[in-house]
Amino acid sequence: MNNKLLVVGTMAYDAISTPFGKVDKILGGAATYIGLSASRFSLDCGIVSVVGEDFEKEHLELLKNQGIDLSGVEIVTGGATFFWSGEYHNDLNIRTTLETQLNVLENFSPKIPEHYKSPDIVMLGNLSPDVQIKALEQLKAKPKLIVLDTMNFWMEHFRAALDQVITKVDVISINDEEARQLTGEFSLVKAAHQIHQMGPKYVIIKKGEHGALLFYKNQIFSAPALPLEEVLDPTGAGDSFAGGFTGYLTQTGDISFNNLKLAVIYGSAMASFTVEKFGTQKLVNYTPSMMATRIKAFKELTTFDIGLKQTITQYE
Ligand code: AMP
Repeated sequence: MNNKLLVVGTMAYDAISTPFGKVDKILGGAATYIGLSASRFSLDCGIVSVVGEDFEKEHLELLKNQGIDLSGVEIVTGGATFFWSGEYHNDLNIRTTLETQLNVLENFSPKIPEHYKSPDIVMLGNLSPDVQIKALEQLKAKPKLIVLDTMNFWMEHFRAALDQVITKVDVISINDEEARQLTGEFSLVKAAHQIHQMGPKYVIIKKGEHGALLFYKNQIFSAPALPLEEVLDPTGAGDSFAGGFTGYLTQTGDISFNNLKLAVIYGSAMASFTVEKFGTQKLVNYTPSMMATRIKAFKELTTFDIGLKQTITQYE
């Protein structure tokens, strides 16, 4: 298959507490969610990551069964898998990280398998910026698009390396709080302009249950988040978004601004599945008919009929 997506990111065990429940150890990690989401598109997806000896075989099988290539996943003998623990407040947009144990991630040096060194699209999932740079250095050809996701942890502890990665990517996908932290700007429009100056041509700012904004030059595209009856666990929403976004772009091979808008909708649909159940549960049970229904719902939510020409003339 030609449509190649290279995903670099964490594979993890998570402990999560939300107002609707608590789990001590479930499968998580940025690359896990990205891979599960992206593999629902027609493409060849490979993950580069690291896990410890404690990583369950059934979890490797689960990813392999979705057609994800794990030849770039290193298993460290005697090592422990990256562990993250987080708590959500009544407002599910607010999350506190309780613990981050880097474990095997601390000394990880990514090795991109030969057959993923010239991918069409690269998705740099949330991970140490040093690792992200090392991964980019191994590429043999410039991909059509490099997309970066990151978070406050890396901004606080590894800012210099993060700034360097940002100069090398075409798209950055972060949430509103992170955009403000990265730039010191409260206005998201000003923050996006400042991030453009740092390198990325496209800036995506996710706003949790309020949707996502895509900035390109002076244009802005706004995608809503589908109002859902039940949100149980927002963990992995950003990564599922990234997987849907890059999965759709890899499948179509079209990186025009118009197609990026559609990719934001597919990404938002994937994120909307993830949050309806704890962990990866809903993504794992994805069926194409779920996507059909959700895309239709997105269209209905955002379409309205108005005689634009007449309306504008009336106010001119
Ligand atoms: P999201 O909710 O999309 O931001 O992603 C949640 C996932 O990110 C969880 O499954 C965690 O294992 C993983 N994660 C949490 N903190 C970090 C970090 N500092 N670096 C990389 N991955 C992380």
